[in-house]
Amino acid sequence: MFQSVFVIKGGKGMITKKQLIKELRKNVQEMYAIEIEDATEQELFFSLGTTIKGIYNKNWQKTWNNYLAEEQKQVYYFSIEFLPGKLLKSNLLNLGILEVVRESLAEFSVDLEDLAAVEKDMALGNGGLGRLASCFMDAIASSGLPGNGNGIRYDYGLFKQQFVDGYQVELPDEWLRNGNVWEIRRDSKAVNVHFGGDVYMQPKSNGKLGVVAENETILRAVPYDTGMVGFENGIVNTMRLWSVEIPSSEEGKYRSIEERRVFEDLTAVLYPDDSNARGRLIRLAQEYFFVSAGIQSIIRYFKKLNHPWHVLSEKVAIHINDTHPALCIPELMRILMDEYEVSWEQAWDLTSKVMSYTNHTIMAEALEKWPTYLMKRSLPRMYQIIKEIDRRYVVSMSGIHDAALIERTRIIQGEDIHMANLAIIGSHSTNGVAKLHSDLLKAVVLHDFYTIYPERFNNKTNGIAQRRWLQLSNEPLSRVLDETIGKSWRHEPADLKLLMNYQNDPIVLEKLAKAKQQKKEELAKYIQETTGIIVNPTAIFDVQIKRLHAYKRQLLNLLHILKLYFEIKENPQASIYPRVFIFGAKAAPSYAYAKSIIKVINEVANLVNHDQTIGDKLKIVFLPNYNVSLAEKIIPAADVSEQISLASKEASGTSNMKLMLNGAITIATLDGANVEIRDAVGDENIYIFGLTEAEVYAYYENKNYSAREVYETNPIVHRVLNAFVDGSIPNIEREGQEIVDSLLLYNDEYFLLRDFDAYCEAQARLNQAYQDATHWQKCSLINIANAGTFSADKTVKQYAEDIWQIEPLFAHTHQGR
Ligand SMILES: *Cc1c(COP(=O)(O)O)cnc(C)c1O
Repeated sequence: MFQSVFVIKGGKGMITKKQLIKELRKNVQEMYAIEIEDATEQELFFSLGTTIKGIYNKNWQKTWNNYLAEEQKQVYYFSIEFLPGKLLKSNLLNLGILEVVRESLAEFSVDLEDLAAVEKDMALGNGGLGRLASCFMDAIASSGLPGNGNGIRYDYGLFKQQFVDGYQVELPDEWLRNGNVWEIRRDSKAVNVHFGGDVYMQPKSNGKLGVVAENETILRAVPYDTGMVGFENGIVNTMRLWSVEIPSSEEGKYRSIEERRVFEDLTAVLYPDDSNARGRLIRLAQEYFFVSAGIQSIIRYFKKLNHPWHVLSEKVAIHINDTHPALCIPELMRILMDEYEVSWEQAWDLTSKVMSYTNHTIMAEALEKWPTYLMKRSLPRMYQIIKEIDRRYVVSMSGIHDAALIERTRIIQGEDIHMANLAIIGSHSTNGVAKLHSDLLKAVVLHDFYTIYPERFNNKTNGIAQRRWLQLSNEPLSRVLDETIGKSWRHEPADLKLLMNYQNDPIVLEKLAKAKQQKKEELAKYIQETTGIIVNPTAIFDVQIKRLHAYKRQLLNLLHILKLYFEIKENPQASIYPRVFIFGAKAAPSYAYAKSIIKVINEVANLVNHDQTIGDKLKIVFLPNYNVSLAEKIIPAADVSEQISLASKEASGTSNMKLMLNGAITIATLDGANVEIRDAVGDENIYIFGLTEAEVYAYYENKNYSAREVYETNPIVHRVLNAFVDGSIPNIEREGQEIVDSLLLYNDEYFLLRDFDAYCEAQARLNQAYQDATHWQKCSLINIANAGTFSADKTVKQYAEDIWQIEPLFAHTHQGR
């Protein structure tokens, strides 16, 4: 409807080969004073990146001017993690110039893939949470929605993982060492953020009480903006990441280099842990830093529009991705009250209308808490405001709800500040990330809040950017889809459904099989290059890729592998189709148990892979340094997707969606989005096993699980567990004992032994099924055809309509191309 204001061109035909080469040549000359023919890959990558940025910068400017001119309501997605991976090919795809660039480079005998490999992964996140934020950024821009990211520009991303003697070793990720071609530093948009000091109230000249702060530490927050290029729609949104600097006016105030260093290093490292909020001062300061800077810049923008305050919630939505940015709530209150003299009542009304919150976990120990003393000392004004929010909450609920319920839901309890409680009380929407997860929030984890604010709770099942996870990472499959169902799926993932018409078409099934085979051969080559292990590309590629965590149960996978190993050793004729078990996983550096599991998987791999009697039947590959780029290599080659977390523990999962989209068949518990995958493909096209969430809760209730009993009565479990401590697996004396203790002495917190038989039975069925190639291919096709429902485009549209109340800028621009 705004088409008349600005016509933004996008998509194919944006630039010709000739124009592109001219621009590239100019950039190589200007940047390096050489010719394209003489440039190294590194130089060419940076020149190409600069060229591409030059192509979308006009659209970036136009998009922004348009939002401003139309005063469109915008959403700001606050996330302490973003995990975009590499941006070159994704930008090229979204600009519609992937092929033009590929062909242009080919004229110089340069392979685009080689240039793309030069780019360092932007890994400013641990796993699913950060990747979701990046899929959403892509989807928001691609859906033409006015939305921006707000986060931290860590100098070092998630650590690089290596294996030494089977142990995880962590190396710093110096992703910025050669510079970052995509970012733009905006000094003019820098703001100050205040920490510590003494805060008290004092009457001002107009008689009102004002806040006085003394002895604060003032830091400079400098934004670096990265364009989020929409898919063939001419829209470029902004991901704004903040970096700390020490303002020159403050230089003289530090008592020592050490003291200065703490502040200087505020945005140096990403906390390499995605489940436990460690009581670290720097982490809390990081949270406030990007929240305060982000809210200040939003308010600065709003002031430009010259509206009265009550319009704020018509122009701005702020989303809190997990609790790390929950200080958005008191910070917006502070700015409105302290800087603009808005009353508490109005500030509170606006704040709760503007804010919305996504919960990502149901594990109580992972819910974020901060000690009050820390908040009081390092963020005294935040503490005051949180305390007042808490006080007013208690007062407003008294007489309506019983005292015990109010106590259980208030923000400050004992010596702790409960960030999820703050996020729920201070916002208008709380959502879970899969149906089961949202139901569990209402029924168990946040049940108290659900009785108080039932209307605030809703579900938004996660989704993925099909562009990255299919169009970019799996070109062979994409081509088969184009040939079979046309290209509409590239814009509308729901159209993958058209593939259902071909489920009995032997030619299509054969083409799909070929595409898969090509990707498996590529991965086999990569495996050999990086690990030296030679795998048979016609074996079943069985994949479990995700953070290493006890609840995700990589160990259950390993127990099954050991069962197979012993079976083959005893009976070399056993009917086991050759299988390659592929793992990718980082463990948090402080998570000893997870690191022990890595060590044990590596030692079992070493044992099995070198056992002559096993040959091709069983191979175990643990690829180091799992990240977005590695995921893009593994997923297209997967036959089997392992999604075997203990039911109720995985909020949603997204690797399950990526793998399904690429034709892998899922073996899964009824956890997170696996439930919705089962509903989408039907029971016959997925291998479901294990305890249900209700059965898990019944065990908690009745306290009647005995892992030792399983061990004593199940001879296979007995045999497999003994192998951890009887020397059958070399070099794991300590780790083997630790693992057996976790299962027997500490009664197997995640019910691995309880689910073991059911898992093995499902694996046996799968093993049989794979041997009927036509049946397997059909099953794979049905998974691809039904994966469109897990599109991040669809998910962000639901957020836009139900939570943020924002509208697309140019609906259907691509159709008018
Ligand atoms: C998708 C993705 C994840 C999330 O995986 P889950 O299995 O859903 O936990 C983590 N890390 C990377 C690099 C990913 O691409």
